[in-house]
Amino acid sequence: MTRRIWFLVAGAVALIVCAGAFLHAQQPAVDLILTNGKIITVDEKFTIAQAVAIRGDRVVAVGTSQQIGQMAGANTRRIDLKGKAVVPGLIDNHMHLLRAGTTWTNEVRLDGIESRREALDLFAARARAIAPGDWVYTIGGWSVDQFADSRKQFTRAELDQVVPNHPVAIQESYYRTYLNTRGLEALGIRDGSPDPQGFPKDSILRDSTGRATGVVEGGMGAVRTIAAKMPRVPDKDVAASTLAMIKDMNRAGLTAFGVAGCDPNLVSMYRTWEAQSQLNVRIFCIDGQGAGTPEQVDRALPLIGGMKLFQGSNYVDNVLYGESVYGPLHDPMFDSVSDPKPEQLAQWRRLAMEIAKNRLPLHVHAELKNTIDGFLDQIEAVNKVYPVKNLRWMLAHFNQSNASQLERMKKLGMYAAVHPWNVINGGIMHEIFGDDSYDQPPLATIQNSGIMWGFGSDGSAANQYMPFITLGWAVTGKMTSGLKVMRQTISREDALIAFTRRNAFFVFQEDNLGAIQPGKLADLLVLDRDYLTIPADQIKDIKPVLTMVGGRIVHDVTAVAATR
Ligand SMILES: [Zn+2]
Repeated sequence: MTRRIWFLVAGAVALIVCAGAFLHAQQPAVDLILTNGKIITVDEKFTIAQAVAIRGDRVVAVGTSQQIGQMAGANTRRIDLKGKAVVPGLIDNHMHLLRAGTTWTNEVRLDGIESRREALDLFAARARAIAPGDWVYTIGGWSVDQFADSRKQFTRAELDQVVPNHPVAIQESYYRTYLNTRGLEALGIRDGSPDPQGFPKDSILRDSTGRATGVVEGGMGAVRTIAAKMPRVPDKDVAASTLAMIKDMNRAGLTAFGVAGCDPNLVSMYRTWEAQSQLNVRIFCIDGQGAGTPEQVDRALPLIGGMKLFQGSNYVDNVLYGESVYGPLHDPMFDSVSDPKPEQLAQWRRLAMEIAKNRLPLHVHAELKNTIDGFLDQIEAVNKVYPVKNLRWMLAHFNQSNASQLERMKKLGMYAAVHPWNVINGGIMHEIFGDDSYDQPPLATIQNSGIMWGFGSDGSAANQYMPFITLGWAVTGKMTSGLKVMRQTISREDALIAFTRRNAFFVFQEDNLGAIQPGKLADLLVLDRDYLTIPADQIKDIKPVLTMVGGRIVHDVTAVAATR
């Protein structure tokens, strides 16, 4: 045998051995295969495949329909995707999810509602469903500018007309609240009488005769005064309310969250569901030691070293310090400018130093330009003592950021958790910030900077929660009404990566989540239309027809899963 032929034979033998090994590895039958689809894997190469195989809670193979079809055994469940697109389960890197569950079923949620008329009908329907005298209310997550039929504000008269016998308080983002006559009465707001206590001066709008218009407007202070009076779901019903909310999240395509604020009682409820294999979302908590005065900082510092992160599972865990470091530097939503004081920044730095010393990851609310600059000054100082690179420190919200801040962050090895309030607040932000609002956040600048960044909502009050609405906005710059509110659009691929793979990294789950890949957890969505090819204006309308978490089908509108 010549040397050359010997090599050929050896190569062929090696191929056969490899193929044999491959077949052998396939032998334990898989539990589920999805074939004949367009699997948008969002792996590092953004690979598109036809089919995926799942065993237990993990993806074991991705490939052609033929390859994956060969892995099926007699008991393998088969789903014929009939050409449908599949994407990884979407991850929101910052939502106040646990808090939202305590009001969810009491609220009239307007997320994704595109018609003002429909919103009024929902208020009326809610009134019909509850006892006389109970509140019809909404705690943010929408604005009139999302309505395609009319962006007019709600009036006291029309709210009286649709809900005559119940008090109504409809909170628009964190900006204003619309009340009907019974709502005004219930809050002690009387025509021609002084304002009740607790409301910022001039926040209760009145006409020239002193009659309340029904609109309360004065930023977070005013709307929170009212929101605090809205009835939470009774303790005995919080589980049911939360489960209804989780269903809505799965329906919208969300399977995992960075959760700002994790009440331990609520977390233990989620852990109970996890233990029963019935938890249909993954929650990764962002929590810290609240401090708002120098004395509170003194008390918080020794506690920081005792914080234990990463003690949980891939369903429930504490992973980040945040979202507030020092209370006085927590910018209120819709303030137009901030003025962080050196003595406040010094307290912020004391805390940040301790967080870095203990090598804790940080996810911190950072909204207005001067505040972001102030934080970066402190972090650069901290970094000289305790390098923050690889600690996964990220600025969150990040609406008023710019290229020079991004440059500083890159040098520090930091990341950006982008929460585009503009998606529902574009009109309001234009009132406050003028044309600058069209660059808030400066999405293309962030993308082009090369910094690692991911999408979150900051829902359910500051923003709506539906990820395909955010993806549509990122690609078109438009609110659901068609109102153009953002200049710096990005590609569909980059937007999807920011809702999947990047956020998996941000919640320390990059080995488990964020892409459809062998070895990762089987969290995925089958979509009703192809995210990559439909007209951009329709991205907001995409609906998952099937949502899977850890190989379990948690949402299935068309019984796709029934096909065998
Ligand atoms: Zn925040």
